[in-house]
Amino acid sequence: MASTTLTKGAITLYQNGNTQQSAIVKVLDIRLCDASTTTATNVERYRLSITDGQDTFNACLLKPELNKLIKEKRLRVNSIVKLENVAHDLTSTGKSFLVILDLTILEQTSMTTTNNTASNSNIIPIEMITPYLNGTWKIRARCFTKSAIRPHPVCDFDFVDASGEIRMVAFRDECDRFHPIIEVDKIYEISGVRVKAVDKRWNNLRHNYELILSPISVVRLINDETINGSIPDIHYDIVSLRDISKHSNESFIDVIGIVDTCSGSIPFINRTSNKDSVRREVTLVDEDTSISITLWDEQAKDFNEELAENKTVVAFHRIRVAIFNNKYSLSGHKNMIMKINPNIRQAKHLRIWYDAGGSTINSQAITNCVTKEDSWKTIQQIEKEQLGRQGRPDYVMVKATCMHIADDRVVYTSCPKTDCFRKVNKLSSGLYHCDKCREDFNECNWSYMLRAELVDSTGTIWVSFFRQQAEELMGNIPATNFAQAKENGDEVLMQSYLNKNTFREKNFRLRINEETFNDVTLIKISCVSMSDVDFSEYGHRLIHILRKEF
Ligand SMILES: [Zn+2]
Repeated sequence: MASTTLTKGAITLYQNGNTQQSAIVKVLDIRLCDASTTTATNVERYRLSITDGQDTFNACLLKPELNKLIKEKRLRVNSIVKLENVAHDLTSTGKSFLVILDLTILEQTSMTTTNNTASNSNIIPIEMITPYLNGTWKIRARCFTKSAIRPHPVCDFDFVDASGEIRMVAFRDECDRFHPIIEVDKIYEISGVRVKAVDKRWNNLRHNYELILSPISVVRLINDETINGSIPDIHYDIVSLRDISKHSNESFIDVIGIVDTCSGSIPFINRTSNKDSVRREVTLVDEDTSISITLWDEQAKDFNEELAENKTVVAFHRIRVAIFNNKYSLSGHKNMIMKINPNIRQAKHLRIWYDAGGSTINSQAITNCVTKEDSWKTIQQIEKEQLGRQGRPDYVMVKATCMHIADDRVVYTSCPKTDCFRKVNKLSSGLYHCDKCREDFNECNWSYMLRAELVDSTGTIWVSFFRQQAEELMGNIPATNFAQAKENGDEVLMQSYLNKNTFREKNFRLRINEETFNDVTLIKISCVSMSDVDFSEYGHRLIHILRKEF
């Protein structure tokens, strides 16, 4: 039969949100959605599995207006269709799905595919496994994790094929029988297993079912190089670092990036188990942003610090999303798998991007997110350690409280051009002149430039705050409002603005530098950024200091 060429790569494009193009795909399966998952409107929804000749995708919902195509048996399994209009979206758990809004049926192929050999004919992709499969079927998949034997006895194995991943559980006799046989990284054909719904508390793989080995189960080792190449090590469902915020707290995702920094292993006492533990902070970067990852215990100890030095590409499979103070981070987990330079498209892409100078493009995002472990100082230490006097600026973090803001100056007239904040002078003509832009303007802006006294338990310092940082310190009162009060000579209002936000403890990132002016060298301290105090992180830091000092 003459067959239409499928649009290879279309599924990946759609999953990345590029839904503008039409694509020719083959329908592999059609199912009526479970009534409980459809909405209260009681409209029947069909779910399609499709292939583009390269990938398969099983989360395609058909727009209900198109249901008649199925009822009239025009759209059926093995139909070749042209997707004319699709929409891409994510479920509440962050899983991709497509909604088919319009399609054209191009061709009906025969029900049996001719290019499969007899032994391949009843192999089904892992993602198609449900308790409603008929007849005998098997999977051909790679074992990628194997548990130890737990009491009862019970053990489990996680399997992957090109379509997805699934857990297989063995109890008692089957545990004794299969635990010694099945090895990680080997490929097996497995048949005669039961299918059961998963309990998501114990199984965080992306499959709604798991397999249970039974006395009639057959597990056959496949030792074939060509098959080996067709089955991945791990099934990644990579979430770009920018999109982590689309996932809920404690959910499990896969990410990939360049290891940019890593701390040493940091000892602390685990509050729940009261045991000595270690953790390690790692920063991962991609094209868009960076994220901090905390690794725990064995995974923290075993982490190779050269990965950060060599800026290595690393993928984390089943890492946990953590949200604290509205900030996203990732946290290791005992079932997490870390792969160095995994053989996937995204890894090659990152390598090319980084080597082509991606590191410099991203530096802004990195400095915003990362604070080095050793950069925390008390106010006393800033003076004692002579920071900023080595001919280069020192950057430190200080946890302190703003006691008061000096009422001299506070605001100045600034250049109205975006990105130029130079002070402008009013000319006799009434225009404002910017020395940097060499231009005269009818109007000027107001910007903050103020000094504030910060205090912690060890001392006080005066710190300069400019523009955004100053506005933040002032409790987000715009500089224009303050300038107006100043011009009106409204002392009471000015003081209320200055006092509004004082006596709040914050983390301040400070730049300390020597500046020489008229032969006098002075230490200048200015605020680069500020954030709320993360008390959990602060507690861990204190424990670390205590253990180091005593
Ligand atoms: Zn200017």
